[in-house]
Amino acid sequence: MLMQKEREQVVEYGKMMSAARLSTGTSGNISVYNKELGLMAISPSGLDYFSTTPEDVVVTDLNGHIVDGTRKPSSEWGLHTIFYQNKPDAGAVVHTHSMYCTIFACLGQSVKPIHYAIADAGVAEVPCAPYYPFGTPELAKAAIETCGEGKAVILGNHGLVTCGKDLKAAYGLACNMEFVAELQYRAMSIGQPNYLTTEQMDDVMERFKTYGQPNGNKSGY
Ligand code: 13P
Ligand code: ZN
Repeated sequence: MLMQKEREQVVEYGKMMSAARLSTGTSGNISVYNKELGLMAISPSGLDYFSTTPEDVVVTDLNGHIVDGTRKPSSEWGLHTIFYQNKPDAGAVVHTHSMYCTIFACLGQSVKPIHYAIADAGVAEVPCAPYYPFGTPELAKAAIETCGEGKAVILGNHGLVTCGKDLKAAYGLACNMEFVAELQYRAMSIGQPNYLTTEQMDDVMERFKTYGQPNGNKSGY
């Protein structure tokens, strides 16, 4: 099977994403990019994560042409490919409708540096893109443009997109984004959050460069 390892990863992380309630039902999608082949393995559209098999995962090129697989690829294939086309370091993309990130998406607001863990996104504040219907090229364009230099973006009235060097990193960032968004929501509901300053966040970004074990194969924070 073409890109078997990547397809197995998409299945494994899809179950994790669903079990962690980062997505409900068949919402959200996951892809892994194989740079050497120029192909991505992406979750099939509208299939339950727990009944998805590696054979159900679709392999496409960056124009969305199916290279292997019998299923219809995620309706957001264009959202995934635009990240691989514009971010040379991206090896995986995760899209969720996780509750707290989506609350800020519905407010049209960014997720702010209320906790230093947001530095995992490579920026101090994760912006919110304007609303466009799911599965459209307009949504993909707005997402990549709003994302800028970071690795995460909130999709207006929709959800979250993250990318990372591999699926562990992209998924870990989706978890961290949900943690920070929940903190922001809860803090805002009882008081005025004390956001970290630009200087404090610059300092965290610097410290993240040496976080973890030396020579460890670190995937995000
Ligand atoms: P798919 O099931 O087509 O991946 O769509 C889910 C989704 O979240 C659309 O934005
Ligand atoms: Zn979605």
